Amino acid sequence: MLPGIGPKSAQRLAFHLINLPQEQVEELAGAIVEAKKNVRYCKQCFTLTDSELCPICSNPKRNQKQIMVVENTRDLAAYEKTGKYEGVYHVLQGAISPMLGIGPGDIRLKELMTRLTGEVEEVIIATNSSLEGETTAMYISKLIKPTGIKVTRIASGVPVGGDLEYIDEVTLLRALEGRTEL
Ligand code: ZN
Repeated sequence: MLPGIGPKSAQRLAFHLINLPQEQVEELAGAIVEAKKNVRYCKQCFTLTDSELCPICSNPKRNQKQIMVVENTRDLAAYEKTGKYEGVYHVLQGAISPMLGIGPGDIRLKELMTRLTGEVEEVIIATNSSLEGETTAMYISKLIKPTGIKVTRIASGVPVGGDLEYIDEVTLLRALEGRTEL
């Protein structure tokens, strides 16, 4: 049932679980059920979290005037791992894809726009450099431009078609530092 786990790995994991002490198996099973029950979307940035506001949005040390737009929580996690980004995020939960019939109304774009009424100074578009990611970036920049808020796009240190989550932290940082205004 799990991604990336073939029959051989599944068998290995099954044998491992069978050999674990009963209480450890119960702890693991309980943790999975609890995670499924409690994980929800942050009401501000829409990342996955177990509280109303995620730890990033509720951290007073984070710069709320800088919003990085990413496609999903995995991409957010990749940028968090660099430890160098001090702003907040907005998770779109997808990208615009005419091919797959995913339009602007199907991702969390409206929610992003409602966040821009405050004192936001910069929106950094960090969608993937896939066709969908680029389409989404262009769409968002056109949407935000009239508000006068600075819109930037991460540099192309990220290889074309590259999935953010698989790119090493140094490349991600370089892409962030070399961002250009749209
Ligand atoms: Zn949040």
